[in-house]
Amino acid sequence: MTKIAQLLQNIEKPVFSFEILPPLKGHGIDELFKAIDPLMEFNPSFIDVTYHREEYVYKNRGNGLLERHTTRKRPGTVGICAAIINRFKVDAIPHLICGGFSKEETENALIDLDFLGIDNVLVLRGDAIKSEGTFIPDPNGHHYALDLLKQVVNMNNGKYLDEELNPSANTNFCIGIAGYPEKHFEAPNFQKDMEYLKKKVEAGAEYIVTQMFFNNQKYFDFVKACREMDINVPIIPGLKPLTTAKQLTILPSIFHIDLPEALVSAVEKCKNNQQVAQVGIEWGIQQSKELLKFGVPCLHYYSMSKSEAVQSIAKAVF
Ligand code: FAD
Repeated sequence: MTKIAQLLQNIEKPVFSFEILPPLKGHGIDELFKAIDPLMEFNPSFIDVTYHREEYVYKNRGNGLLERHTTRKRPGTVGICAAIINRFKVDAIPHLICGGFSKEETENALIDLDFLGIDNVLVLRGDAIKSEGTFIPDPNGHHYALDLLKQVVNMNNGKYLDEELNPSANTNFCIGIAGYPEKHFEAPNFQKDMEYLKKKVEAGAEYIVTQMFFNNQKYFDFVKACREMDINVPIIPGLKPLTTAKQLTILPSIFHIDLPEALVSAVEKCKNNQQVAQVGIEWGIQQSKELLKFGVPCLHYYSMSKSEAVQSIAKAVF
């Protein structure tokens, strides 16, 4: 597999990539393939596959008591990556998260990926369990993406958890991380967030993928702030096409981002979500074209496993 850091260094023109979600448990993989199919004509350089931690579901026992069950609603990240590589001959990048994983489980997942020949990982902390307000790590897991990243770097250096095994076979992962042009919501301030970002790069992260943003100036300022702090790895902008009016409130509440006034008022004028999707596509095209002029190495789209909007944007841009 091509290492993303190398790919981005050697490109002649900016590349296209996108992120998908594993299907909900109980759904087959064909729906996902159908969502990927129309995007293949734009030659994606890689496809990211998200990882989802466990959630709690409560079942009514009929006597007024609720019974709590733990379930992973979107399993299958590693399998989907292998299936994508096999079917589409495109590099697939699994996201790895701290939440819900012990270090041992992480090590085993990394061994699976290594055996599959998957050499890129996007290392993240993951979000809190929906019903819990704050992020609580597994008792034997990592608290921050930085700690998970250090585990991957250790394995790249042949250092596994069981010291008796060391030195062991080196893995060969190229490590990406998340960056937040509008600050991660838990960070006390932008500067502090940037300091933690720098620590991840110093520890071995080779590229950054940004949280979605709808105002390119936020990305430009973020890149400038990174360079001023000597964070010199490629910074891939992540773009989400707006598709429904509800997203005007959902996106800011989930992703802690601002929506520009011009976009909000254009959506408010729409009579239905078909018109909203069209506004989202036009906004996405403008954002993409301006980012290309700025000289980004890659445009990365949050497809949410739906192809129409990303397809329309890519058609106008690539
Ligand atoms: P961290 O880098 O660990 O940062 C988390 C917070 O802690 C930040 O506020 C940071 O400033 C602070 N911090 C960092 N290090 C320290 C330290 N040493 N001491 C004190 N504070 C510290 N979530 C999923 O569950 N699955 C996914 O597949 C997924 N994919 C994503 C892809 C992208 C491109 C992005 C941008 C986000 C993704 N997320 C995903 C969401 C992500 O997991 C959340 O935003 C999460 O809350 C933070 O992850 P992180 O890796 O940035 O965490």
